[in-house]
Amino acid sequence: MKKIPIDEDVLRRAYIIERKTVQEIADELGLWDGTVRKNLIRHGILLRSTGPRVGKRLSDFHRSQISKSKRGNKNPVWKGGRILSHGYLCISMPGHPMADRLGYVPEHRIIASRALGRPLKPEELVHHINGNPCDNRKQNLLVCSSAYHTFLHKTKRILKNNLKEIWGEPLIQEMPSVKISEED
Ligand SMILES: [Zn+2]
Repeated sequence: MKKIPIDEDVLRRAYIIERKTVQEIADELGLWDGTVRKNLIRHGILLRSTGPRVGKRLSDFHRSQISKSKRGNKNPVWKGGRILSHGYLCISMPGHPMADRLGYVPEHRIIASRALGRPLKPEELVHHINGNPCDNRKQNLLVCSSAYHTFLHKTKRILKNNLKEIWGEPLIQEMPSVKISEED
């Protein structure tokens, strides 16, 4: 099975908020369920129990202990309040409406929200246009719906694969940037 990275935002949205099953996400993205499951684990997303298939999962307690030991300046990637989490830069902003339970907010969501001049709605995703999840310059960010985000990544993958077939290797690495309205 090929290692196919799936955007963390896409997975979190689909699996946690939209409560889709691994199989549903796999069908939607045109991937194997195993690939989706591996990506969920890679992003530290706790798998929901699916009956007899339980697998090896960390308990919430265990996870919180790991997080604690890596919190703040004990974290090897500590950058003055910024940490690298699953490939994304996150800022320590305890109490912020968009913060997770450890008080971190993904930097790209903060920047997008400031650019729009309003908080992001939970259903709004921020896509990195050039594919670099750490390039949080405004011009590299695209706020879009989950459906549009899935479409972007799907199209990008199809383009890449087809070009690979025709030319032997991909000619373009990234989708051309698509600017959408800053409102919905
Ligand atoms: Zn994306």
